[in-house]
Amino acid sequence: MDFNLPEELQMLKTNLRRFVDEELIPIERETNDGTDFLPGMQKKLEEKAKGLGLWLFDVPEEYGGLGLGSLSKTVMWEELGRTIALPSRQASIFGPRVSPILYSINDELKDKYLYPVVRGEKTSCFMQTEPDAGGDPGGMRTTAVRDGDHYVINGNKRFITAAGSADFAQVVAATDRTKGSRGGITVFLVDMDTPGIKLVRQQELMVGDRPWEISLENVRIPVSQRVGEEGDGMKAAQSWLTEGRLRHGARAIGVIERCLQLAASYAKQRKTFGALLSERQSVQNMLVDMYQTMHQLRLMVYDASWRHDQGEDVRWLSYMCKYFGDEMSFRAADRCMQIHGGLGLTTDLPIERFWRDQRSFIITEGPTEILKMALARQVLREYGG
Ligand SMILES: Cc1cc2nc3c(=O)[nH]c(=O)nc-3n(C[C@H](O)[C@H](O)[C@H](O)COP(=O)(O)OP(=O)(O)OC[C@H]3O[C@@H](n4cnc5c(N)ncnc54)[C@H](O)[C@@H]3O)c2cc1C
Repeated sequence: MDFNLPEELQMLKTNLRRFVDEELIPIERETNDGTDFLPGMQKKLEEKAKGLGLWLFDVPEEYGGLGLGSLSKTVMWEELGRTIALPSRQASIFGPRVSPILYSINDELKDKYLYPVVRGEKTSCFMQTEPDAGGDPGGMRTTAVRDGDHYVINGNKRFITAAGSADFAQVVAATDRTKGSRGGITVFLVDMDTPGIKLVRQQELMVGDRPWEISLENVRIPVSQRVGEEGDGMKAAQSWLTEGRLRHGARAIGVIERCLQLAASYAKQRKTFGALLSERQSVQNMLVDMYQTMHQLRLMVYDASWRHDQGEDVRWLSYMCKYFGDEMSFRAADRCMQIHGGLGLTTDLPIERFWRDQRSFIITEGPTEILKMALARQVLREYGG
C-alpha cells in the first residue's frame, strides 16, 4: 500500500504551499473582514492566483472548469486552511464557487443559472435553515404548495450566507410535511427579486459572517424552477454535503498545522520561571497532541477523498472527517492560544480568528452530535448483528 501522494499532487501541494507562505500569509490580516474581501482585494488575489493554473478547479470540465478530483481538492483545501487570508465561508480566489446542485438541473435552467454563475455574472445563496428546523430539515415549516403550473412558497429562513448580494436562491421547502426528509422536501431556484422575498435583517455573530434572516410570503414560481422531481430535495443536497464535509476535514488539517507551527516556534522562544515553554512537559504534551491529531486527520481525509474519487459511497467517512476535523482543529487553536498567553488573544496573530472560525464550524453544515447520531445508526447496522 502506497500512502504517498501521486507526483502531480505533490507538485500541486508544493506550489500551493509556496503561494500561501509567500503571497497570502504576509498580508492575511489586510485582505478580508471575515465575511468578504476588503475592496479591491479579491481581484488582486485572483490575479496572483491565476499563475497557479487553478482557475475554476472545482467546476467540471464540461462546464469550462478543471474538474479536479476529490483528493486534489483536499490537497488544495489543506494548504489554504493554513491561512486566514480568505474569508472562511463562500469566497474564493480561484473563480466563482458553483453549487453542485446546479449541475443537476435541466439545460434551460443551466442557461439561466449555471453558466452565468460560472462566468461570474450571477451569485446564489442556499436557503435551508429556518427558526424551527436547522440540523433537522425534516421539521421544516417552509412550504411549497402546488397551484396549477406554479408553486407558492411561504416561510421564514435564517442564517442564510450571502443572501444580501445573491441574484438567486436555492430554496429548500417542504412539499409534503408528512414525509419530512424522506421524500417530502424539494429544492427550487428562486430569483431574489421575486415578489414576496424579503431580507429581514442581517445577523451579528462572533465570527465575521453576517448571514440573513429572510421571509418568504406567497412567493410564486413556475414549476419549471424546481430542481429534479418533487421530494428529491435531500437527494440533491447529498453530493453537495459530502463534498462540503470533506472540505471541512481538509481545511482543518491546515489549521492544525499552522497552529502547531505557531505554538512550537513560540514555545522555543518564550521563557517563564527560568525555562523555555518548550521544555515544560505540559506544553510538549499539547504540541504532541496536535501533531498526532494532524496525522490521524490527514490519513482519514486522504483516504475518504481517494475513495470518493474511486466512486465509493463515502458518506459515513465524510461525517467523521467533518466532526473530527472541526473538533480537533478547534482544540489545536485553543491550545495554541493557551501557549501564547495574552498574545494568543490579540489580532496581531491569526490564532483568535482560527479559534472563532473553527468553533463555528462545529455547529454549521452539520453539528457534531447530529453527524454522530447518523453515524451511530450505520455503526449499529454494521456491527450490532
Ligand atoms: C455563520 C453561519 C452561516 C450559515 N450559513 C447557512 C446558509 O448559507 N444556509 C443555510 O441553510 N444555513 C446556514 N447556516 C445554518 C447552520 O447550518 C445551522 O445553524 C446548523 O445546521 C444547525 O442548525 P440550528 O442552528 O438550527 O441548530 P439545531 O438543529 O437546533 O441544533 C442545536 C444543537 O442541538 C444539538 N442537537 C441537535 N440535534 C441533536 C441530536 N439529534 N442529538 C444530540 N444533540 C443534538 C447540537 O449540539 C446542535 O448544535 C449558517 C449558520 C451560521 C452560524
